[in-house]
Amino acid sequence: MTTIAFIGLGNMGNPMAANLVKAGHTVLGFDLVPENLEIARANGVTIAADSGAAVKDAEVIVTMLPAGKHVISVYEEIAPKAAKGALFIDSSTIDVESARKAHAIAASHNLLSVDAPVSGGTGGAAAGTLTFMAGGSKEAFTKAEPILQPMAGRIVHCGDAGAGQAAKICNNMILGISMIGVGEAFVLAEKLGLSHQALYDVASTSSGQCWSLTTYCPVPGPVPASPANRDYKPGFAAALMLKDLKLSQEAAQAAGAATPLGAEATQLYALFNAAGHGGTDFSGIIRFLRGEQ
Ligand code: NAD
Repeated sequence: MTTIAFIGLGNMGNPMAANLVKAGHTVLGFDLVPENLEIARANGVTIAADSGAAVKDAEVIVTMLPAGKHVISVYEEIAPKAAKGALFIDSSTIDVESARKAHAIAASHNLLSVDAPVSGGTGGAAAGTLTFMAGGSKEAFTKAEPILQPMAGRIVHCGDAGAGQAAKICNNMILGISMIGVGEAFVLAEKLGLSHQALYDVASTSSGQCWSLTTYCPVPGPVPASPANRDYKPGFAAALMLKDLKLSQEAAQAAGAATPLGAEATQLYALFNAAGHGGTDFSGIIRFLRGEQ
């Protein structure tokens, strides 16, 4: 079994760390928020005084932090303190440039690293069924894979440094665009007097079929488990969708890729968030498309 430092014990990090404990690993945790440390302690995580103390004897260091600036500052702090041969795994969703910088910080201390953002949300984190999208060398990925296993339903090696983050933001750009597309179709159907169920029955088995329709249907009824059936309680909050869409647009600009629908989706989610709906599930954008406040 492995000694693992886990830094960032928030909504995602805490259930992920709990699954590492359940798998028999020794987990040393740190977070800036005392309440999060208490939850971790109750889950069997040993609480460290600070990040440096958490990583000192760790063979693997997992970070689950809000954004690129947090990852860079934590990496700069802990890389010089990490044990020889330690492996860094960053599962935060961050911009590709910061992810590559984080890899470079680890490499400058002769440490292996993997960017491994996730999809699956807090439910997947609790159930240990997250999809990990990993970027890094073959050697680093091979070492990371068995550590990710107890937290994962699926693990994909996407390529070199930053490839995991690239896969994550490309996927979520598809998701943001497709949810707006499905929402628009339901709003048009309403105006045309077509029932939600009729549109669903046709589109779900026709060329309009997609995940936003058949798994996460934005109107109540056709897919009973979708957030639309519980007043758009997340799920995946609109604020997080906006974060990921903004990351996609930063990356598109830096790489010179034309993503006009990604840009439009970012604008619509920015307006939805500005109207006070950041805590609503992202599929709630259909209400905004209908003109509801
Ligand atoms: P969160 O805000 O609940 O947790 C982040 C934690 O990091 C907080 O507890 C915070 O105190 C801690 N932190 C910040 N700076 C720190 C530092 N210097 N040292 C130690 N701890 C520090 O966020 P979350 O929902 O757990 O998300 C974490 C990451 O996962 C984000 O990048 C998010 O985009 C991504 N993500 C979230 C979801 C989701 O559904 N919540 C899904 C997929 C990916």
